[in-house]
Amino acid sequence: MTRVNVGLKFDDLITRVKSYTKDDSDLKMIKKAYNYAKEKHFGVTRMTGEPYIEHPLNVAYILAEIEADSATICAGLLHDVIEDTEVTKEQLASDFTEEIANLVDGVTKINKLNFDGNLGSSSMIATQRKILVGLCEDVRVIIVKLADRLHNMRTLWVHTEEKQKEKALETLEILTPIAHRLGMNKIKSELEDLSLRYLKPEVYYSIVEQLNQSKIERVKAVEEMKLSVSKLLNDEGITHEIKGRAKSIYSIYKKLEKGRRFNDIYDILALRVFVDTIPECYKTLGIIHSKYRPIPKRFKDYIAMPKTNMYQSLHTTVFGDFGYLFEIQIRTYEMDEVAERGIASHWAYKENNGDAKSLMKNNMEQKLQFFRSIIELNTEEERDEDFINSVKEDVFNNTIYVFTPNGDVIELPNGSTPIDFAYKIHTKVGDKMVGAIVNNNIVPLDYKLKNNDIIKINTNKNSFGPSHEWINIAKTNHAKNKIKSFFNKIEKEEYVKTGEELLTKELKKKKIPINEFLSNENISKILKEYNYKDLDELYTSIGNNSIPVNTVINVIVEENKDVKEEILLRKTNKTVDKPQLKNDILVEGIDDIKVNLASCCNPVPQDRIVGYITKGYGITVHRAMCPNVKELEERLVDVKWNELKGKKFPTNIIIHAEKKEDLLLNIIAKTTKSDVTIRTINTYTNKEDNVYEMTILVEAKENLVKFMTDLRQMKSIIDVERLIK
Ligand code: MN
Repeated sequence: MTRVNVGLKFDDLITRVKSYTKDDSDLKMIKKAYNYAKEKHFGVTRMTGEPYIEHPLNVAYILAEIEADSATICAGLLHDVIEDTEVTKEQLASDFTEEIANLVDGVTKINKLNFDGNLGSSSMIATQRKILVGLCEDVRVIIVKLADRLHNMRTLWVHTEEKQKEKALETLEILTPIAHRLGMNKIKSELEDLSLRYLKPEVYYSIVEQLNQSKIERVKAVEEMKLSVSKLLNDEGITHEIKGRAKSIYSIYKKLEKGRRFNDIYDILALRVFVDTIPECYKTLGIIHSKYRPIPKRFKDYIAMPKTNMYQSLHTTVFGDFGYLFEIQIRTYEMDEVAERGIASHWAYKENNGDAKSLMKNNMEQKLQFFRSIIELNTEEERDEDFINSVKEDVFNNTIYVFTPNGDVIELPNGSTPIDFAYKIHTKVGDKMVGAIVNNNIVPLDYKLKNNDIIKINTNKNSFGPSHEWINIAKTNHAKNKIKSFFNKIEKEEYVKTGEELLTKELKKKKIPINEFLSNENISKILKEYNYKDLDELYTSIGNNSIPVNTVINVIVEENKDVKEEILLRKTNKTVDKPQLKNDILVEGIDDIKVNLASCCNPVPQDRIVGYITKGYGITVHRAMCPNVKELEERLVDVKWNELKGKKFPTNIIIHAEKKEDLLLNIIAKTTKSDVTIRTINTYTNKEDNVYEMTILVEAKENLVKFMTDLRQMKSIIDVERLIK
């Protein structure tokens, strides 16, 4: 069910490959490539915290799922060694084969193309797609690239929002159209859904949630329809299989964009009928139409007239039972292969003999030729340019240009206010600002600046400083950070005072003479312990709860422990009941059943939830918006949180922070305020920032929200998100 292959093993890859080829020399080569890549990437970690080899291994697995040949699988395993390690193309050619070296070299080359997010006009995009395709002598290079991107998109949660949007847009503009042209629908569809998830998360999750919540009813209707169609076909002696079919989130999104209503889309259910031969396809269609009235103009014969990417099927929409419309696709198993895997279906491994292989290679070459010519022509643009433009507007084209009274041009993001302008000029201008005049008119501070506005900022040197509210009014992070740091400075003075008081009080309680405790020798020992430069800094940390006063005293009084460890211990030692899920969650109509909380989305009380019946594991409870629930074939049940008091549930968050300081202590300090307990913290770093993945225990969503809001307010924190894997 879960799309992310958590803990994928090399054995899983081999098992998958063995399901379509038994060739020993192929398997040996794949094993060699795996060990080689593992050794070359040894010691390097991905941002997700896993050893680097997990990435190429997952890429190879994706390739095995489309039954790629062994050279392509090897290229998947080795795809980053030229770029990231000292291995050269020549080296690869001698360690493996010329063919594999060429594939890896091809992937390395297209990775060097700089599609840096700012993709420009749609003709530019078309050009870049062309360059990408044109560069590839061998279509398998593009296929490896698609698999590479798919795995990167699956683990995109680890990046900052800005980077996520950049990658998602590039994927949608450059790579999904290529996947589409190659007919690789399964990969294309997952890439589109993932892109939408990061480009328009609100839209994405609201679609998922509506789908999940109306699912029980829809699944029931689909099951009934399956039974009655199946009976019709059995009566006519047609061997067949029928599957329910989940529509992609992206396809629903596109229909919504065209002005269709949610309910109109959801009321259309989808079935897919598989039969053995083409005549049976048409016979099946006739049988279905004889019982269910088709909607005129919705019938399409893609068998007689295949789509340009070779897709074949019969499509019809009929009035089904219970007032639902059913979109029915009828196809042979062979057509299904092509529909899901596209060009990759031409890999069809016949029993191993050299001729079959070279035949297949030629076949793929021909397809690529064909594919090149359609991409050149660039007709039949199926992309929704409006969508891309609107996203681009949201994400990139959001700059305005305004002027100072002297005529200097200032560049600001769209939606900026006079506050942003003032801080852009100088921190002092911002801090001392009392009003703004735009084009000779006094404006409120939340006025949205427009292109070509001339702005004069009024300041007053006696002004106390910015108001807290400005943080919400300001658009730019620059201004927000400056305002926050103004308050941090003021708060710091208060913290120093509180910290000193706390220490004095605690020492008195413990009957330790203050003068003795604060001897020069002790002070320098404490400062060294915490790496602080002076007493003020120590008092600040005590005052703002970053370190418990007792641990400071213990540095001198007892032999010290590592502070961080101490705090973590203190946090995790609080007794946490293992959730008694049977009583925590009420399952509609069922009393005695095992209940688990899903580890992909980690629901907590007050989250909207759905239950999901899994074979042998009882019921797994997901958040209603969890994308992992959307596949249609599984069974959902209604579940509710029971009245719960004082019990805590685990959930995961991810924090991106600036790299300059170790924030952990400050983050931990915030847990007390919202009654959050930290269970585990994983820290990853990359070139730009620190990433913390935390499992925390909370009583309910409101505590979690409070905690996340507190964190977002901290100066060096860039963003905080709940994690759905
Ligand atoms: Mn890669």
